[in-house]
Amino acid sequence: MENYMELIIPSYSRNESFARSVVGAFLTQLDPTLDELNDVKTAVSEAVTNAIIHGYGNNGGEIRILSKITNNIFEVKIIDQGKGIEDIEQAREPLYTSKPEMERSGLGFSVMEGFMDEVEIISKVGTGTQITLRK
Ligand code: ATP
Ligand code: MG
Repeated sequence: MENYMELIIPSYSRNESFARSVVGAFLTQLDPTLDELNDVKTAVSEAVTNAIIHGYGNNGGEIRILSKITNNIFEVKIIDQGKGIEDIEQAREPLYTSKPEMERSGLGFSVMEGFMDEVEIISKVGTGTQITLRK
């Protein structure tokens, strides 16, 4: 049995907590522990924040969030059509940030990796970024 949902939001920073709550609400049908729920919500927050800050920067755009549950596997994709990532391997490195002046710590991907079982990054400069998180 598969269940799925889609959410489309403008890249306003106030939508980050909204996206986090919606994905959390969708996940509850799997009866996650409080820890599992918080892990997924935190990972989603990191990916959505990245789409807002890095993907779109000051220019707003749309963020699509697709989530599905198949055979007890939870998956969520966070998709932006922003500027894209030049070097994905470097972006994944702990403490790497392209915005040190904004006091980012470069730990978003490390948090996603730590809290989820799988993190996939597909990105193309000038086209956008798709992050897939699974647990
Ligand atoms: P922190 O998450 O700790 O505040 P950060 O966002 O810089 O800092 P990561 O979340 O690990 O760190 O991301 C690493 C880098 O990958 C970013 O600095 C940015 O250059 C790039 N990046 C991440 N997500 C995107 C995105 N959606 N679009 C474009 N670039 C991105
Ligand atoms: Mg980040």
